[in-house]
Amino acid sequence: MPSHLIPTYAPPDLVFERGEGVWLYDDKGDAWLDFIAGIAVDALGHCHPALTKALEEQAGKLWHVSNMFDVPAREELARRYCENSFADLVFFTNSGTEAIEGTLKAARKYHAVRGDEDRIEIVSFQGAFHGRSYGAINAGGNPAYLAGFGPRMEGFTQIAFADDDAAKAAITNKTAAVIIEPVQGEGGLRAAPDNYLRMLRELCDETGTLLIYDEIQCGAGRTGKMFAHEWSGAMPDIMAIAKGVGGGFPLGAWLTTNAVGEHMVVGTHGSTYGGNPLAMAVGIALWDEIAKSEFLDHVTQMGQFLKQQMAGLADTHPDMIEDVRGLGLLTGFKLKEPYVNRMVMGLARERGLLCGAAGDNVLRMAPPLIITEDHARKAIEVLDTSLHAARSAQ
Ligand SMILES: *Cc1c(COP(=O)(O)O)cnc(C)c1O
Repeated sequence: MPSHLIPTYAPPDLVFERGEGVWLYDDKGDAWLDFIAGIAVDALGHCHPALTKALEEQAGKLWHVSNMFDVPAREELARRYCENSFADLVFFTNSGTEAIEGTLKAARKYHAVRGDEDRIEIVSFQGAFHGRSYGAINAGGNPAYLAGFGPRMEGFTQIAFADDDAAKAAITNKTAAVIIEPVQGEGGLRAAPDNYLRMLRELCDETGTLLIYDEIQCGAGRTGKMFAHEWSGAMPDIMAIAKGVGGGFPLGAWLTTNAVGEHMVVGTHGSTYGGNPLAMAVGIALWDEIAKSEFLDHVTQMGQFLKQQMAGLADTHPDMIEDVRGLGLLTGFKLKEPYVNRMVMGLARERGLLCGAAGDNVLRMAPPLIITEDHARKAIEVLDTSLHAARSAQ
């Protein structure tokens, strides 16, 4: 039968029926170890009881009233984020790319209200990924994502990632904002060094430029801190979050300071669904689980354990693994030519392990944050046999 779906995706022949914790079950009843978690979304695994309960309770009360009316739970969730971050103000969205749009609009508005309408330049980084809306693809700069969609938008420049001199040359008092993922996801799991983020912060302060973090993939506790940038201590002016913050329910947000957010007054921005009661109920339940310090300690420990295990893999397969990358439970390794990440990913899937691919020939893992050492050992075992199989197939 022909598919009636726009052919933007190419899924394997595999259909999951239900999930529980770190495991997915297909329509034949087979179990799959999920080390990609909907691309860093299912932070608490599948069907976590606290999230299921919050969603079910809210579903029986109220689904949607739009932003014509107050939704008290929005204030409740925004308070949690603001009391535990650099931010004073939050705008809720349904996805990451919408959150990015908000950050870019707020940055330009900030300069415009200061009489600097022409200060529109957004500096971003090679290998960046910020989503698929027009603003996001222009900020991301990936030629494959821009091709065929009309002229590039004005006011976007890409520079080399984690290159001090490039940043010093590009960030001037004409720059509106710098946007960076503290750990690049799609681009190949490159973590920006702490001192690089601190240097960006200083350059932004010196030039009056706003610093935007895209923590859509690396936030929500994934690196062992609520937000990845906390490892560096370099705070942003604006930050986009999504993916893990909804634990599988569509939820995103952008957070900012009073100085930036106060200019986004009535009529400047909006969303029909953003901050709807269902999303808020899940977002609050998720925050309350992740914010426990023992939870984040667990993520750090599991991240270290997985990294050690991968270092072991790299020792066993020095001809195949170039380096181990990432931070916390956003992690993986770069393969050496002629080995290809997607092939190893496919071989692992044949053996019951789901992981992902990222740019730069990286095999990506972003398991639920609730994994145990046993899950990690099992994943490494499968990757080991998959690497052997890839070598034999060569
Ligand atoms: C996934 C992702 C986005 C886009 O989020 P969507 O919810 O797919 O729109 C933006 N930035 C980063 C870093 C991401 O990983």
